[in-house]
Amino acid sequence: MKPLINKVLAGLAPIAISVRKRKLVLCYHRFSEAGYDDPFFNPVSTMPLAELRKQLKWLLSFADIVDLETLLNSDSSDWQVAITIDDGYKDVADLALPVFESMNTPVTWFIATRPVEDASWIPWWDMAAWIQRQTSGQLTLNTDDLTGSFELAEASSRQQIAATLRKLALFNGIDAAEQLVSSISSQLEVPDNAFIRPADLLAIKSSPILTLAPHTHQHPNLALLSKSEQENEFNVSYQKLEEWGLNPAKWLAYPFGKEWARSMDTHETASALGYKGAFTTNIDFVEADTNPHTVPRISVDGRWNMAAFQARTVFAPIQQRVKAALR
Ligand SMILES: [Zn+2]
Repeated sequence: MKPLINKVLAGLAPIAISVRKRKLVLCYHRFSEAGYDDPFFNPVSTMPLAELRKQLKWLLSFADIVDLETLLNSDSSDWQVAITIDDGYKDVADLALPVFESMNTPVTWFIATRPVEDASWIPWWDMAAWIQRQTSGQLTLNTDDLTGSFELAEASSRQQIAATLRKLALFNGIDAAEQLVSSISSQLEVPDNAFIRPADLLAIKSSPILTLAPHTHQHPNLALLSKSEQENEFNVSYQKLEEWGLNPAKWLAYPFGKEWARSMDTHETASALGYKGAFTTNIDFVEADTNPHTVPRISVDGRWNMAAFQARTVFAPIQQRVKAALR
């Protein structure tokens, strides 16, 4: 969406807000602040803390920020917004949690448990972001999909490695991507992942605004997995959170959240395992007849300015429908 359109829509937002009260779930991933070191920085998934403060202040000017239970089950006639955060990066606890606490806004944090449990396990997308920022070094790869010698000083080499990681993870599966990730880790000094550790989760668990819930164990593309493999991903993630003493809630967020990353089995499995609600990144408002196992969310992009945020939240479903109609 072009900046001018965002500006126009943001200008119309007050009218849309007053005409019809809506329910909206937002999805964040990571947060940043000047001086906070992040070797796996990705501008799309990382929200500057100053922007988060502005966004919350604007939302609170017309909406109640509520927990998921309230948003899905109350028949309020006011605007309701629920905040969720996916994945489990440490910056959430270090930077964003104090902001949510100071504004007394509930948040549900969906945790992928494998990278939390194992600091040396680098998710493929973080490895892709990290490799793109290297400007020296050499890699000799002898994997199924990438063979040869790669000079990291060359942008085309870095891009080829990052693109292959993405392709393998999303189309071949987590094991295929892991072969390449391990090969890189064995040759270069890759830092520990940027995820929070179980003990640090335990330390913040008592925060009155925070709910913890599973986001699978290895963050796979669920569409590539059998029903029992999907069940296992949900169960392991939930059980780890339980073992760590974190009293997880029976909510679930699907990795990636898009249609291509789920199958019919996914929703059935989430329902059969007793999850009260499971969350996608389908762009829409939550309606009275929303299926509780495919609840839409707006994934907030770290590059959005305030006009983009306003346009993409209040008008997101309309933009989505126009886009689909033009396709
Ligand atoms: Zn995720």
